[in-house]
Amino acid sequence: MTEGKAKSASVSRWQVLASGQQKDDGIARCPQGHIHLDYGNLSLRFDQQAFIAFGEMVGDALVALTGESNFILGPAPHHADATFSES
Ligand SMILES: [Zn+2]
Repeated sequence: MTEGKAKSASVSRWQVLASGQQKDDGIARCPQGHIHLDYGNLSLRFDQQAFIAFGEMVGDALVALTGESNFILGPAPHHADATFSES
């Protein structure tokens, strides 16, 4: 794992990673680097690695539930680290 301390102050705003069907549902990364997931009355906070593990688990569940394999989350080629600009 190359985590690279991305503690540069340049990341000072929220980055929306995904939006749900309901207005307030979504997943975003806060300036502190947490992944915040809001869904209905549910609000969860992860660090990035924990969220990736969570996402893989959800992906497995979707595959098991639907038989569709296109939910599988592999190590994405467009990894979120690409958005860190460490100059
Ligand atoms: Zn946070």
